Amino acid sequence: MPVCQHCGEAWSYKESLKQIIKLRRKMICEHCNEQQYSSQRSYWISQMVFLPAYFIIIPLMNIVFNVGFITGFLFITLLATFYILITPKLLSLSNKEEPLW
Ligand SMILES: [Zn+2]
Repeated sequence: MPVCQHCGEAWSYKESLKQIIKLRRKMICEHCNEQQYSSQRSYWISQMVFLPAYFIIIPLMNIVFNVGFITGFLFITLLATFYILITPKLLSLSNKEEPLW
């Protein structure tokens, strides 16, 4: 779980998830109200996790046409849910906004 670099408090899974869903790199720590940023490392790790999804999307489109829209849609939703659920475990924090490369 991510640890606030300002106050040293660990964020709960629920708290991390809430911050991630906002889709901003800038996050506010609930313990000390200081700004935190997702670190460069965790940004890239989360991108890496998502990368295979790009390769899955195209064959997935074929499946969607073959199995029908509802099944395909459910599959994509499941994949997206899985991604969102594991992201808090990969998040690490930084006191300042780090360049992405
Ligand atoms: Zn804090």
